[in-house]
Amino acid sequence: MRSLCVTLLFALPSCSTPSQEVQFDGQRALLFVESQMEFGPRIPGSEASRQTAGWVIEQLEAKGWEIEIQHFSNLGTQLINIIAKSNGVSGGKPILLGAHYDTRPFADRDTINPESPVPGANDGASGVAVLIELADVLDRDRLRQPVWLVFFDAEDSGNIDGWDWIVGSSFFADNLTQDLEAVVIVDMVGDRDLQIFIEKNSDPSLVQEIWNTADQLGYQAFVNTPKYSIIDDHLPFLQIGVPAVDIIDFDYPYWHTISDTVDKVSADSLEQVGRTLEHWLENQG
Ligand SMILES: [Zn+2]
Repeated sequence: MRSLCVTLLFALPSCSTPSQEVQFDGQRALLFVESQMEFGPRIPGSEASRQTAGWVIEQLEAKGWEIEIQHFSNLGTQLINIIAKSNGVSGGKPILLGAHYDTRPFADRDTINPESPVPGANDGASGVAVLIELADVLDRDRLRQPVWLVFFDAEDSGNIDGWDWIVGSSFFADNLTQDLEAVVIVDMVGDRDLQIFIEKNSDPSLVQEIWNTADQLGYQAFVNTPKYSIIDDHLPFLQIGVPAVDIIDFDYPYWHTISDTVDKVSADSLEQVGRTLEHWLENQG
């Protein structure tokens, strides 16, 4: 939506070159991390979670996306997934970009404070910040395929009080009524020392497309080597046959500790991931 088309005198209409477009800005994305942190831990069903959902919806509405809200519950807790849609100029199956906005209720990897909640600057807020900034910079007049930005609740409560992992994305995938082209999950993408190895459950050709895009842009964060198999929001989509990838840096020393705070997150890391996805999406179709 940010590209400029101008009609020059005696010339055909000309559109801006990519270099003139507003691109994904890591500094702005970092502000979106900070905004989420101000709500406190986004534990499913909490007031902070509802406020965060409201903030996400506000951001997306301000950027002109069509919003759908999915209400559901698990073990008596009310949960919310948020879906923002753009149509694409030539239709086709949507590409879904997803992130979880909830944070883990207990920092059970923290040796000193395992009963405290995880602040979730990287594990939660970083992925959401990437999607919110993409909502602003994606040139929806040029995207060929529909794009859905989906903010999942309750990814990160696994093994606590009878909860499973990936509750929000599982509900979403179970209730899909439309075929998706591909699913790209971003999770823990803000680490200052960003190293994104290939997640082993991820669809190999989707991985290559995205890792090649990062390579073309000269980004070092995407490492072309498989490392971990991770339970994350991509799994429910793989299980229903949709190609899906999890973009995650799992080598994060503050994972599930109370030290997962905004000082561990860098604008440059968010920008490498955001610009890679921006370019990948704008070259689809
Ligand atoms: Zn987590």
